[in-house]
Amino acid sequence: TEEGRTNFIRTIIDADLDAGKHQEIVTRFPPEPNGYLHIGHSKSILLNFGIARDYAARGIPARCHLRFDDTNPVAEDIEYVESIKEDVAWLGGEWGEHIYFASDYFEQMYNIAVDLIREGRAYVDSLSLEEIREYRGSLSEPGKPSPYRDRSVEENLDLFARMRAGEFKDGEHVLRAKIDLANPNMLMRDPLLYRIRHATHHRTGDDWCIYPMYDFAHALEDAFEHVTHSLCSLEFENNRELYDWMVENSDVPSRPHQYEFARLNINYTVMSKRKLRQLVEKDLVHGWDDPRLPTIAGLRRRGVPPSAIHSFIDMVGVARANSTVDVQMLEYAIRDDLNMKAPRVMSVLDPLKVVLTNYPEAEDGEAAVEWLDADYFPRDVPMDGSRKVPFSRELYIDRADFMENPPKSFWRLAPGREVRLRYGYFITCDEVIKNEAGEVVELRCSYDPETRGGEAPDGRNPKGTIHWVSASHSREAEVRIYDRLFSVEFPEADPERDFLEFVNPESLRIIKNARVEPSVVDDPADTRYQFEREGYFWQDPKDSSTEKLVFNRIAALRDTWAK
Ligand code: ATP
Ligand code: MG
Ligand code: MG
Repeated sequence: TEEGRTNFIRTIIDADLDAGKHQEIVTRFPPEPNGYLHIGHSKSILLNFGIARDYAARGIPARCHLRFDDTNPVAEDIEYVESIKEDVAWLGGEWGEHIYFASDYFEQMYNIAVDLIREGRAYVDSLSLEEIREYRGSLSEPGKPSPYRDRSVEENLDLFARMRAGEFKDGEHVLRAKIDLANPNMLMRDPLLYRIRHATHHRTGDDWCIYPMYDFAHALEDAFEHVTHSLCSLEFENNRELYDWMVENSDVPSRPHQYEFARLNINYTVMSKRKLRQLVEKDLVHGWDDPRLPTIAGLRRRGVPPSAIHSFIDMVGVARANSTVDVQMLEYAIRDDLNMKAPRVMSVLDPLKVVLTNYPEAEDGEAAVEWLDADYFPRDVPMDGSRKVPFSRELYIDRADFMENPPKSFWRLAPGREVRLRYGYFITCDEVIKNEAGEVVELRCSYDPETRGGEAPDGRNPKGTIHWVSASHSREAEVRIYDRLFSVEFPEADPERDFLEFVNPESLRIIKNARVEPSVVDDPADTRYQFEREGYFWQDPKDSSTEKLVFNRIAALRDTWAK
């Protein structure tokens, strides 16, 4: 839980409350609907919605808005709006009736721009974007004024109205704030407020052909909504001066403040919607919810529970220094979460047939079967429950659990050696059957009927215990094993190379003929399991059905990456 949690932002809020600065606390999560959210966004979501929930729980009026920063019609789409709502809700963000769209404020924003022109604080510039950049100067050199900087208020009002009316083409004019061309903060050197974009907007259609720029729009949106603490990532630190200028120079109903925190970065992946979109559009992954992606939709489909993301974000914490978090921390959080709740079942990913020659033969075509008791949880997990597992004459074990010429340290099955079958009996390998190519296709073994349940009356105690399924009772399943999407730690590090070159060609391995114990078909389809000795799995929510089981590996049992 987030009770009692603290960070430098909560310290600021507490101080503001103590000083009587606010009667209510309002935060917001302001995504641009230009792609699917990724795990980086979950830091901002849990921070903003977490603050609102915790202060409300303490009796202080508090809320968090979900606001779509939809000011750029070219990249945005309703599909993204819908996916963002689903992802925020899945992570536990509760916005109630507080869902807003920047595009709903276009008229108000326009009026504020007109006010700025009237007050001599904004002007229409007719330089091209390249010229504006040149005129702006550099850190060592002040900017020089555009020849259009001193247009009269009347001329500016007329041009801006005609920009809105659609009389000009894209790029012919822009609206700029008139601030300070020598300011050491480049963003203060007459920033752009509006540009012309003849494009259809997913909500306002063709009502507008001028669109507000981020710094102008964002500060106003916060102020319109009475946001008190506007939290954004560190790269917006320099924008804060402009944010304050906007709020101070506009007739807005409240005075929000911006605070910056470190962006979440994780190694072995990329985390920007633009780059994720390239992976999707170039078919390097199968859609935005591909389980290899760091998108919320991908993590959800993979089977990661929201609680694991919560604890990961808790571990990362909220600080003001940028850093890259090791993906192993995320994997740890997922395993740690699942370990405490995932029932253990048996699945054989690479089946090798075992025939127990001294076990009763089938009678009347029906395999003799015993139903063994098998606990769902190990003793160190405080959860109860068990199921019955069928044991019969023909079993499958994993090919990796047998070696024909094993080294001494191999404790699993080998010719002449005995192992314990989990929940079952001890078996000894008597004979190895091979095909013409010399591959092992079957093991002939004998079982010791005295060892049912895993103990021998004479105290024999084989070192190896392996998992297995009954050949005729188990179900076939496709199993998808995911590895890291990139084979290098920092795929974006080399400016000379395209990050797409580093996609790990083995990031998805599909096993077509795995076998799973039959109990799983009686469970809810969204059950997350530990397949004993294999990892954590659940049924792919899109592709799996009782007729054709498809399991995603959510996480390996421990880090198999380095081996
Ligand atoms: P991207 O480049 O991935 O599109 P963005 O910052 O442009 O990210 P927005 O939709 O504008 O995406 O982000 C909404 C909110 O989420 C912003 O307040 C932003 O600061 C925050 N956010 C985005 N990425 C991260 C991250 N990696 N870590 C923490 N917060 C993030
Ligand atoms: Mg953005
Ligand atoms: Mg972006």
